[in-house]
Amino acid sequence: MTLPFLPIFVVDLLGSALMIFFAGACVRLSYGLHVQDRENVLWVYLLMVSHALAVFAVSRGVGHIAKQLLLLGGYRDIWDGLRPYSGSLNTISFCVVGAVTLFFERIWKVYQQILRDRHALREAHENLVSLNKRLEDAVAERTAELARSEQKFRRIFEASLDMIAVVASDGTVLDMNPAGREMLGIDGLNPRWGVGAERVSFGTFFARPEEWEQLKERLQRECSVADAEIDLVGRDGREISALLSAASQCDVLEKTAIFHLVVKDISQRKAMQQQLLQADKLASIGQLAAGVAHEINNPLGIILGYTQLLIREEPEGTERREDLKTIEKHTRTCKTIVEDLLSFARRSHTKKEPASVRDIIDEVLSVVRHNLELRRIEVETHFDPQIPALVVDKDKLRQVFMNLIMNAQQAIGKDGRISIRTVFGDDGKHVHVSVSDTGTGIEPKHLPRIFDPFFTTKSTGEGTGLGLSVSYGIVKDHGGEILVESEPGKGSVFTVLLPVTAEPVESGGRDD
Ligand code: ADP
Repeated sequence: MTLPFLPIFVVDLLGSALMIFFAGACVRLSYGLHVQDRENVLWVYLLMVSHALAVFAVSRGVGHIAKQLLLLGGYRDIWDGLRPYSGSLNTISFCVVGAVTLFFERIWKVYQQILRDRHALREAHENLVSLNKRLEDAVAERTAELARSEQKFRRIFEASLDMIAVVASDGTVLDMNPAGREMLGIDGLNPRWGVGAERVSFGTFFARPEEWEQLKERLQRECSVADAEIDLVGRDGREISALLSAASQCDVLEKTAIFHLVVKDISQRKAMQQQLLQADKLASIGQLAAGVAHEINNPLGIILGYTQLLIREEPEGTERREDLKTIEKHTRTCKTIVEDLLSFARRSHTKKEPASVRDIIDEVLSVVRHNLELRRIEVETHFDPQIPALVVDKDKLRQVFMNLIMNAQQAIGKDGRISIRTVFGDDGKHVHVSVSDTGTGIEPKHLPRIFDPFFTTKSTGEGTGLGLSVSYGIVKDHGGEILVESEPGKGSVFTVLLPVTAEPVESGGRDD
């Protein structure tokens, strides 16, 4: 084919050059597309086809240029030799284009599938990511909820006034709140029990260790125990009456259980119950005693009167006079006991007026001092100068301190010390008067009974067992309290608490 206005060889040369140029441009363009998205199979295909076309364009263009140059130079025979190679190269290039195009359909399908799969994968990935996010949110919310709950229970644990403890089945304390540690006097111990700290066994705090063993058995059998009364002893030796409620994490197959305990200190409540019981007991004994005392008071007075009349009529030195004297002496003793009984039952007249406790004690001491010196008993006094005058019945209080000092003297026997101390209480409402001695002390089994009327450990003639009960009645009548601390061999301390009352009172002589 020729253009009418150009010679054939120019058209051929120009066409071939343009063909090579366009083929090169195609290669460059398809390469650019391929670089942008290397995974796109369409661009791969375009790149391969444009390469094949470029090979075709170069082989055909170079072939035609060479042909024109050889024909123009008169080398037709050379061209005739080269022609078959140029033709076959063109054919091969086209075959490649054809084969790639034919194969491309298969590749295209696979590619489409891959695209679909990739899409599905992306969707699955997105679903997974959102699921994961929801899971993370749920975990974060649950963790916050748990932290709030832990904080709430920790606050209850820390602030509880009762002991809360977690104890392993072998008795090892795993955790205990501050109230529990204070109750047992183990405040200083590391609260992270067992980790590099002293291992504390709960059973060691039981006054009777077998009680703990029984409790454990019951807990393992029944899984819970409610309001069991127990006696504990703190590290500082304090005895504690307590109510224990507990639950165990029960699993029949599990050999090691965990016990959760709540222990309530009821020592104070028990002491108060004891006091009420004592007061009740004294009240009923008092009523009985007062009735009896009242009945025998008058006959005793008559016996005493007549005995004294008879003594007066009897000459000195006769046996009969001595007998009458013995009757008089014993009748007087009986009268003293009856008067004690009446004052115990608060049937005697009480006259309260402002008085100094120090003066009352000094008066008592002036009476007994000689007696004490004879027994080589030293008296030590310490009076708080801050103490105000108290509104009291001086005679009755004198009787109280006389009883306490005489008891102290009898408990010491010979060689010892009695200390009397007055302190104005921190609350500003009570005066504390304590009488302590270095005497024998009181057996624990006697302690609950010493204020009972007629309770005495002294031999007949030495004690009536009324001193403390009468003193108790008098102090109670003043709105006060008598406390005692004693241990055998370590002496005793009796403390009288007297309220600072403003008004002088004259109270009920119900003497009839
Ligand atoms: P009494 O002295 O007549 O026995 P009390 O009522 O005064 O009666 O005392 C009752 C008991 O309390 C005494 O018998 C004694 O056992 C005990 N007691 C009282 N005070 C003391 C003391 N200071 N030291 C030891 N025991 C005491």
